Amino acid sequence: MATLAQHLLQFLFPIKCVTCGADLPADDYYRICPKCQLDIKIIGKFHCNICGSYMPDGGEHCYHCLKKTNYHFEYLRSSGLYSGVLRGLIHKFKYKNRDYLSRFLSRLLVKTIETNINMEEIDYIIPVPMHWLKKIKRGYNQTEILSQDIGKHFNKPVMLNNLIRIKLARPQIYLKREERLSNVKKCFKIKKPHFINNKNIILIDDVCTTCATIEECSIELKRSGANKIYAVTVARD
Ligand SMILES: [Zn+2]
Ligand SMILES: [Zn+2]
Repeated sequence: MATLAQHLLQFLFPIKCVTCGADLPADDYYRICPKCQLDIKIIGKFHCNICGSYMPDGGEHCYHCLKKTNYHFEYLRSSGLYSGVLRGLIHKFKYKNRDYLSRFLSRLLVKTIETNINMEEIDYIIPVPMHWLKKIKRGYNQTEILSQDIGKHFNKPVMLNNLIRIKLARPQIYLKREERLSNVKKCFKIKKPHFINNKNIILIDDVCTTCATIEECSIELKRSGANKIYAVTVARD
């Protein structure tokens, strides 16, 4: 039973679902109502074995991975489809300073990691880096926040400021598939390769469309001697 103090708190500082505005209990942790949570399309087990894209009709590999199989990462997995509620949540987390949304989004990532990756063999969690100029402008890198939540959950170190972004590329979202691949070429650099040598790594990003960014990070990590690279993103476009 809610106490008088809880009723008072709810009255003074109402907690509402960040997506639909429905009232939530005063102690709600995720700030997303159950109905909106159910609206998220979770990819589950119907995905391409390599790039993790959603394949609702089943099958092992998507059209693109049938053509290209020499990625530098082992495989990529995404939690849900980049549409509707999930798209809105990521947008609010990225551009509207709703840092508390990392609780819900990193929980999605944790579930995806638990079902797809053996964490015992992982040495480091590495977020896909943002160019320093862009980070100053936004004030934070949302992927770093997610990585830190995941690191805490699995008790694994998060490596920051070693894999860095050296080129300010145009936002991938406005580009065609072929343009996206060339847009991120040689965008990333490892500053201290000896920390990477022979290590198993999980790369974390918020949204994946063509795997171009993850692949470029993986090329640089492999060049620095990384052993196995896995990648997990919150959403799949
Ligand atoms: Zn809602
Ligand atoms: Zn694929």
